Amino acid sequence: MSQRIAEPYEHYIGGEWTAGESEETFESANPATGETLGQFQRGTDREVERAVATAEEAAAEWRALSYTDRAEYLWEIYHELRDRTDELGEIVTKECGKEIAEGRADVVEAYHMVEWAAGNARHPHGDVVPSEIAAKDASMRRKPRGVVGCITPWNFPVAIPFWHMAVSLVEGNTVVWKPAEQTPWCGQIIAEMFEDTGIPEGVFNMVQGYGDAGEAIVDSPDVDTVLFTGSAEVGHEIAGEIGGEAGKLAACEMGGKNGIVISEEADMDIAVHSAVMSSFKTTGQRCVSAERLIVHEDIYEEFKDRFVEIAEEVSVGDPFEEDTFMGPLADADQVEKVRGYNDLAREESDEVLVDREELSEEEIPAGHEDGLWVGPFVYETEYDSEMRSTQEEAFGPHVALIPYSGEIEAGIAIHNDTDYGLAGAIVSEDYRQINQFRDHAEVGLAYANLPCIGAEIQLPFGGVKASGNGYPSAREVIEAVTERTAWTLNNSKDIQMAQGLSADITTNED
Ligand code: NDP
Repeated sequence: MSQRIAEPYEHYIGGEWTAGESEETFESANPATGETLGQFQRGTDREVERAVATAEEAAAEWRALSYTDRAEYLWEIYHELRDRTDELGEIVTKECGKEIAEGRADVVEAYHMVEWAAGNARHPHGDVVPSEIAAKDASMRRKPRGVVGCITPWNFPVAIPFWHMAVSLVEGNTVVWKPAEQTPWCGQIIAEMFEDTGIPEGVFNMVQGYGDAGEAIVDSPDVDTVLFTGSAEVGHEIAGEIGGEAGKLAACEMGGKNGIVISEEADMDIAVHSAVMSSFKTTGQRCVSAERLIVHEDIYEEFKDRFVEIAEEVSVGDPFEEDTFMGPLADADQVEKVRGYNDLAREESDEVLVDREELSEEEIPAGHEDGLWVGPFVYETEYDSEMRSTQEEAFGPHVALIPYSGEIEAGIAIHNDTDYGLAGAIVSEDYRQINQFRDHAEVGLAYANLPCIGAEIQLPFGGVKASGNGYPSAREVIEAVTERTAWTLNNSKDIQMAQGLSADITTNED
């Protein structure tokens, strides 16, 4: 744990560490062992109010700096994230249970995002636009929106905060951030990094806490943009609330019920490899994890045999062991939720093919008896759009095998028959089928002959339908944290209008 200050660890508001007014604290626990990792102050609406007020006060000075001057603070963070990747990767693994290579990848993704945002400070912002009138210069310019409230989930506890904050800050906004209650230690370290850069007081603020602190950010009249990544349940509530408030904007990225269509033309090795990674990597706790494998009837039995064989054997265990494929679930609520969906699938589906919900004693690593272990759960079912287990996000290693028959369109129709639209993949050697999927899959992220996983920060990352409004990451989030001004300057002494509009002023005497 950080040595910066004594426990309980505090909020970072206006350039100072502060306990705030609430006496209440909460703890972070290692989901693989149950060990307590630290105690944290639990923020309330009062701490959020203070943080928003200080962010507002700091806004004028911050936006007056050049893009490159603002980016300097982010470059320091970039170097620190790079230098401390192994150490921070271990903290990610301890706090949210991802296996260690994924813990490090979370930090790598974070510094890629910071690099993009800071590097973008030297790129053109806005457009020069031709005018119909030769004497007019027209352009689009951007301005920061003001205070950006960032609310982030636990499953990428270092990367996602930087998806939100790196671009927001370089574009000239000040920030109030609430990390997830499961990963406050990662939050503490990120706040320490900002402090170390000497960023002006009030530009970056962090309030630790629960959902009510997030709600206070959403409710604050002085927060101009809310960036939210998390569940659809919370995200739609936020989008609904903010949608009704003039001048405020919410960019919400939420979950999915992602699927892979495996056609009769699939390369079986690629199909099995992609499906196992998509369903079980990160213990199924990626927003892009696939919980539906939609497989053509001609190859269904072969695929099922091979997929089930691996699902029975895939290694679940100590996330610090390099040969572990799946770590624990992140917290007790996650365990309850995933078990609930497993029970539902037991009732609704035709047959359960793999049930490792309770790991055997030999599978649980020594010293990890209190870990939150839930292994793969695989079931098969004829497609029925009324089934909740194939429609709702379980967010765990819970996956349905669904056969389809006929043309690729039939597989894609099942794939699209969900309220969500985050990610999806096709496995096929037929380019016509692949292109059909590319053009008709109702998702924000689509993959072919690959796992349904991947977030290179230079690509857009966001869903459609109930999964989001498509803002984060990198380039797209600029739209959510800036306002555009259409700027037109007349270089002539005469006033001339576009679209044939007359500029003549006529009077009664004419
Ligand atoms: P939650 O929606 O439960 O929480 C996300 C954040 O919102 C947390 O900081 C949480 O605080 C906070 N929060 C909770 N209630 C409110 C509220 N009423 N108002 C404002 N803020 C609130 O999601 P999880 O943390 O459980 O994350 C998992 C979900 O995130 C999955 O559905 C996953 O698919 C999705 N996700 C989406 C991604 C995408 O890019 N589309 C990427 C990663 C995850 P607290 O921690 O205290 O609950």
